[in-house]
Formats: sequence, structure tokens, C-alpha cells
Amino acid sequence: VQTTMQHGDLLISGLVEYSRRVFPEAKVITWTGEGTREASFADIGDQGAQIANALTKLGVARGDRVATFMWNNTEHQALYAGVPSMGAVLHTLNLRLSPEQAVFIINHADDKVIFVDASVAPMLSQYLTGTPNVKHVVVANGPVESLTAPEGVTVHAYDDLIAGEPTTYDWPKLDETDAAVMCYTSGTTGDPKGVVYSHRSIYLHSLLGTSTSGMGLSNHDTMLAIVPMFHVMSWGLPYAAMMAGATLVMPDRFLQPEPLLAMMVETRPTLAAAVPTIWQGVSALLDAKPQDITHLREVVVGGAAVPPSMITKFDGYGVKIVHAWGMTETSPLGTISRPPAGVEDEDAAFAYRVTQGRFPAPVAARIVGDDGQEQPWDGEARGELEVSGPWITGSYYQPDGNVADPSKFDDGWLRTGDVATITPDGYMTIVDRAKDIIKTGGEWISSVELENVIASNPAVVEATVIGVPDAKWDERPFVLAVVRDEADADVEAHRKFLEDRIPRWQIPERWSFVTEVPKTSVGKFDKKRVRQHYADGDYT
Ligand code: ADP
Repeated sequence: VQTTMQHGDLLISGLVEYSRRVFPEAKVITWTGEGTREASFADIGDQGAQIANALTKLGVARGDRVATFMWNNTEHQALYAGVPSMGAVLHTLNLRLSPEQAVFIINHADDKVIFVDASVAPMLSQYLTGTPNVKHVVVANGPVESLTAPEGVTVHAYDDLIAGEPTTYDWPKLDETDAAVMCYTSGTTGDPKGVVYSHRSIYLHSLLGTSTSGMGLSNHDTMLAIVPMFHVMSWGLPYAAMMAGATLVMPDRFLQPEPLLAMMVETRPTLAAAVPTIWQGVSALLDAKPQDITHLREVVVGGAAVPPSMITKFDGYGVKIVHAWGMTETSPLGTISRPPAGVEDEDAAFAYRVTQGRFPAPVAARIVGDDGQEQPWDGEARGELEVSGPWITGSYYQPDGNVADPSKFDDGWLRTGDVATITPDGYMTIVDRAKDIIKTGGEWISSVELENVIASNPAVVEATVIGVPDAKWDERPFVLAVVRDEADADVEAHRKFLEDRIPRWQIPERWSFVTEVPKTSVGKFDKKRVRQHYADGDYT
């Protein structure tokens, strides 16, 4: 027998038209610094079509790359709608890259047009002399004069570019496997690598965003999307919101704890999503200046391990942290942690909540030991986590043909570079990144576990741990910590705190106290920079 079902390509244009027709009440609310400005999903659909019409006039054709160098805001959401729908490929550029990396990525992706927020246009101006294939730059949310462009680049004002353009577009019938959005890894490990999402992968990933075993986004939610639209498509929120008819609150460039909490007062979001370092800052401010945030049903936290102490802290504010794991290569939702049915006891539930969680149905997973053998799901055996599925990348983008390099792919599986365990009931725990595990005297220390215990000390604001060379033990842990008060910069007190909590041989001897742990472009502890800084062996 053959199926009687229709095919129905899963296209972003379908999502855009659906959201503008069915959810005109859903909004994109952008923070202006003082208050909000609002667009309905109908407005976003209109603007998306206007962008597509304008880009067509500029000569943008199917498959051409259109980049964004923008914060989370209405205009960026309209680009998410219009660019892939017309068959072009949206390339979201990370605003916090080094100039060398940014120029490399713009050229590698061969971006033809770049949309830029005026506030970051001066930064983009510096790159443009090194990117000869960029022909048009469109400045949004401020004066075009913010940009200095070399000869050969035409500069447009966003509002002028789309003014008068029709608010409909005859969206092409694309194939669902066509490229829709591309994103480069943040490069904590070597050169940035390009991942290209398809219409189908984004559509299926959005379904998970709206499912109760995923992010659970619904028409009744207001989602504060703190995670940048240049960090793995804001974890898929712009598209999941279109599917669910959820209102999005976009912080624009105001990502500090004060404005984030001010936004919450004004918009009362039911959900929010960001990396742990953001919540660490929000928590510090909440302790100094208490504010009711129980309007938040849940906050999704991932991108780096969530310290259990942070989950407890937010329980204290009456807000549930939901831990999730993913990567640029996995669109990014790979796991999400909610305790299983029947676990009512809070302590038992907590043991599940601190894990990275369960894999959704479309994501297959296995752990592979050093010997290349698949390891059991017994909660003990460790190995490299490998995943596969319809929103997991199968290669990296290269202009002359994508490459599935064996160091990153294993017989159709993506090698994550993360070492993990999985329990019999499917809860995955990231032990560490393979390259961050500390090998000391023939034993292993998970830098993540050590960070979590150190951070559970109320005297500690944040702490990262790396392995450093040691004559006797090969490697020993070194701690770089930020403490609450000067008096807390007391190594012996910290070691004492650890004595009751971890085996003696794991307690670090080398500590340094600083005012901030260096962060990557997406707000994770930047262990590469910490390693470089202390490479001379002087840990003071
Ligand atoms: P990069 O690898 O360049 O930092 P990504 O943002 O794609 O870029 O990072 C993915 C990595 O982040 C994962 O492989 C994993 O090591 C780490 N990560 C993401 N979420 C979690 C989490 N919840 N717990 C621990 N590590 C995480």
C-alpha cells in the first residue's frame, strides 16, 4: 500500500501566513530603554512581505545570503519572517565576534546584503572594508549616518527601503529541505563552523517549542526572549512563537539585569529563556532589590550547565528553572528536563531537574566510550554523546560542498564533544566537555561538577574551573572565582567549604579571585581565554 496522505512541504512562509491570519492578537513587544513599542503578528507578516519585495528589487535571488547584525527586536523578527519565505537564506551574525571572525564569517557565507541596527553600525563599518561581496547594507532603528561604508556598498534606511512596498508577496513553492537560516558556531573550539537549517528542520523544531514536553509555548504565553536571535535563532523562539501565537518580548540591546527586570514589571512574561550567566546577574539584583517575578511560569536555561544552586535559588523566588541542553548543530533543542510522571517528592524531582533531561522523540542519542563501544544507559557509564535526527546537522557548510569531517561525525551521528551519562529512564547528564575534563593522577574531575559545588557557596558569585599542568599529578584544577565581598577571597575558607562536599583529592589548591570571569560571545565561561591568560603558570 501507498500512503494516501498529501505531502505538504513544511515551509516558513506557511508559518508566517498562519501566524498573521490566525494570531493577530499575538505581539512582538520591543523594549526601547524607557518603555515598549509593539507590532502584531499581522504587522510582522506585512513587514516580512515588504522586506521580500524590497530585496527582490535589490536583486536578491533564491539561495542568496541576507545577513543580520541585529539585536532582538521587531525588525529582526520581520527579517526572520520575510527572508527565508522568499527563498533567500537568513544569516544571523553574532554581534560579539572579534573583527577577524566576523570578516571571516561574512566572506565564508558570501553575504550579499546585511541588515544592521544603528547602535552597532559603527562596528560593522570596520568590517566592510574586508568584505568585498557585500553590496547593500540596510540600517534599522537609527540614522543611516551611523554606518560608514566603502565604495561599492549602497546604504539604505530600513524604513525607506520597505516604504510603499506591497504587504503581500507571492511566496515561492520551495522544497522543505531548502536552506532557510544559517548560523556559525560561537567558536569556543577553533574556527567558527557554519550550520544551515532547512525549512523542514526549523518547522519540526518549532513543533517541539510548542509541545508540553518541549518549551510548552502557547497562545496564552508571553515569552521574554533574552537569548539573542544570533545565538542559534534565539533557541527557535521566533518561529515557535509564530506557530503558537505566543507574544514575544524582545529586549533589544538592553540585556543587563536592571532593564530585564524593568521589562518584566511592564510586560509580565510567563516564560523566559537565557543562559545561566544572565540569570546569575538577575538573581544578584533580585537579592539586592526584591521584586515579584512569579508571573514567570518557567524559565528555560541552557547553553551551559545550570548549577543546582541556581535552581534552588529560583525556587526561592517561586520560579521554576527548566534545564535544557543543545548546540548550534542541534537547532538547538537536544534535551529538556522535566521530572517523570509519578515523582511527587521535591527532592526526588530535584535530582531530575538538575540533569540536562530527556531527548525529544525525533532526536536519537547514544554514548560512545573511548574504545568506540556504545555504552549502556545505566546512569553510570560515560562516553561521548552522539545524536542524530531531523534537526541535527549532518555536516558543516562549505561553499564548494558541505563537509562531514570524521572528528565531528560518526557514521551519520553528530559527535557533540560532550561527555555524558544517561539513566535507564532516559535522563542525560553532561559530565563535561571532553576537552575540559581534568585528568589528575589517573582520575577524572568534571570541571562542571566542581564549578557547581564551588558556586553553591553563598560567598561565590560565579566560578569557573580549568585543568592546569602539574608536575606530580599531570593536571590539577584551577579556580577563577568572583566573590561577594573582599573578605570572601579566602582560599582556606573555600577549601574548608569543599571538604564536606567532595573527595579530598578533588579540592583545588590553586585559586584566583577576579571581578569577572571572562565570557564568550554568547555569555558562557570562556575557558579558552582563561587557559591562555594563565598559560604562564602564574595563578595569582
Ligand atoms: P559553542 O560550542 O561554540 O560554545 P554552542 O552555543 O553551540 O556553541 O555550544 C554548545 C555546547 O554548550 C554544548 O556542546 C555543551 O558543551 C554546552 N552546553 C549547552 N547546554 C548545556 C547544558 N545545559 N549543560 C551543560 N553544557 C551545555
